[in-house]
Amino acid sequence: MELRCTCGAYLPSDARFCHKCGKPQYEEDAARLAAENTPAPVQAPLDVPGTAKTSPIGFGNLRAVTITIAVAAVTLIPLSLAMIAPPLSLIVLAAAGYCAAYFYRRQTSQPLSAGGGAWLGVMTGIWLFVVFALCAAVVSVKVSSPADLAVMKATLAHVPGAANMLDDPHQFIVTIGESLILLFFLSTLSAAFGGMLAARTLARRSQP
Ligand SMILES: [Zn+2]
Repeated sequence: MELRCTCGAYLPSDARFCHKCGKPQYEEDAARLAAENTPAPVQAPLDVPGTAKTSPIGFGNLRAVTITIAVAAVTLIPLSLAMIAPPLSLIVLAAAGYCAAYFYRRQTSQPLSAGGGAWLGVMTGIWLFVVFALCAAVVSVKVSSPADLAVMKATLAHVPGAANMLDDPHQFIVTIGESLILLFFLSTLSAAFGGMLAARTLARRSQP
């Protein structure tokens, strides 16, 4: 016997699909097609409160990187002035960490933990250390060249002790290296202290 599709077309008795409208003539084909055309249920995004808006403080957090670089760049001025009295530089470094945490807290308007503040300070200290290390590298290269060494000796002639330091360039470079290690810990720890202080002060102030 001849089949007739709902669209009106006459179909051969063994037709699985209508040649005119494409409608499946068997229940199993209809079910399979329906299953294929049903869109997969949209997976609801995992909504974890607190983590969605801000990435953790670190070098992967663009805002933290930008703020700490800016603070470190500005800090270079008072830091070079503090060379007159080296203990002052510790206060300058702590202030830099404080400023980094303060600006980050203001920009994100998210609560800042003491650890987060300290980490912002450490990042600021690391950028400053990078500048120190570059300066040390330049000085080390200069000292290695006899012509530049003579110029440096002439420049530092009036600074007591400085010219003597340059008498042994190798010892001088070793001293620079040792100072850098000390500088790394001093700059990161002082700035971390400042950042932690800022986080605690700001948290206390925002309490009702
Ligand atoms: Zn049909």
